[in-house]
Amino acid sequence: MTATTTWIFLTSSSSPVHSGLLRSPGGHPAIWVATGRSGGVSAPPFDSLNLARHVGDDVMCVQTNLDRVAADIGARRWAVLDAVHGADVALVSSPGVVTGVDALVTSESDLALIALGADCVTVALTAGSSVAVVHAGWTGLVLGAVPAAVVALREESQSDEVVAVVGPAICGKCYPVPRERAERVREQCAVADAALVVAANGQPGIDVTSGVLAQLDDCGVTVVWRDVRCTAEDPNLFSYRRDGRTGRHGIAICLSTDTSGQG
Ligand SMILES: [Zn+2]
Repeated sequence: MTATTTWIFLTSSSSPVHSGLLRSPGGHPAIWVATGRSGGVSAPPFDSLNLARHVGDDVMCVQTNLDRVAADIGARRWAVLDAVHGADVALVSSPGVVTGVDALVTSESDLALIALGADCVTVALTAGSSVAVVHAGWTGLVLGAVPAAVVALREESQSDEVVAVVGPAICGKCYPVPRERAERVREQCAVADAALVVAANGQPGIDVTSGVLAQLDDCGVTVVWRDVRCTAEDPNLFSYRRDGRTGRHGIAICLSTDTSGQG
């Protein structure tokens, strides 16, 4: 059996979104979704499907939005990352906001894992009967947040066969950085060749997605889908670099309760 994702249509109001079934070879099917701005209840500048509490949005609106996203993929409970730009991973078995880490792993069914971004890369993964999500900006790229999550997922699932989908992020052309930051990536990051680019304004740029894809490849992870949209260029996505005070979209994944699991 090969790793696949099968496109599915969600019935809720949070469309248009990208969503599908994901399963590793021999593994349990999982449902994932990469959300955009539409389909939620938050008011501007968080309109409307903001999934982050720390940005100044009404917490009840955020709660409703998170509940909607979890319901979209068949879950009644969710655990959401409050990322810190590190590379620590938490194994979770109960719902809530998880602070201090940049990746979550679970083997619980009916528990959606959600990672947030508004220019940073988000990744959803599955292996065996476990799932994971990761958040990585340039710091997470240097520290190895994604490889750390892959290690933790393999340990929890007791399976080496990992498949992943990658959410939208800012592109390298839209992400100019100070020369010192580019130098740090060059010195400390094994995938620097993939990640370092020239931004549209001629400054050094970081293409975090390309770096993350190279890390996933180095880890032997099969990426079955990536969102090619640039958050700064696409008004359907949140972008901190573009808008400053704004919301966060996310990627969510949950083990499917349907064990017949086509796809
Ligand atoms: Zn761009």
